[in-house]
Order: sequence, then C-alpha cells, then structure tokens
Amino acid sequence: MGLGSFFKRGKKQKEDVVEECHIDINVDDCDGCEKCSVACPNNVLMLADDVMSVRDAQVCKSCRVCVAICPSDCITVN
Ligand code: SF4
Ligand code: SF4
Repeated sequence: MGLGSFFKRGKKQKEDVVEECHIDINVDDCDGCEKCSVACPNNVLMLADDVMSVRDAQVCKSCRVCVAICPSDCITVN
C-alpha cells in the first residue's frame, strides 16, 4: 500500500512568461532598403517579399535602432 502515492508528485506549474516586444512595420511605406535589418544587433528583422518583416520578435531588445535608422519612419517598437 501507498507505493503509488509515494511516487506521485505534484505537477510543477510551468510559468508561461514570454518576453515579446511589439514591433510594427508599416509595409505600405517600406521600400525594402534593409537598413533596419542590417542595423539590428539581434537579427530580428528580415526582408520577405520586398518588404521588411519580423523574423523573431522574442529576441528583440527594444533598443529602437531600427526605428531611428528607417528613412521612411515605418517601424514602431512598443
Ligand atoms: S528594437 Fe532593436 S533589437 Fe528590436 S528589432 Fe529594432 S533594432 Fe532590432
Ligand atoms: S529601414 Fe524602413 S524602409 Fe528600409 S527596409 Fe527597414 S522598414 Fe523598410
């Protein structure tokens, strides 16, 4: 008796904390110059179908280098 309960353990609750930065790219104004993706120190952005897109928002550190360098003001980082 009791062996089963001996091995039973409470489930560890996994905290689901996802650090995500919110990056908006106004693709209507983006001319695909790639200045932002070249300048981004974390390789967050990449060109897709001639406009900039977010490759991986989770590695964004919200430094806003991309916002500063974009000549068309199409990036917003919240
Ligand atoms: S805010 Fe910084 S890390 Fe995030 S996409 Fe822009 S340049 Fe990259
Ligand atoms: S810097 Fe601005 S215009 Fe150039 S690719 Fe990036 S978002 Fe588009």
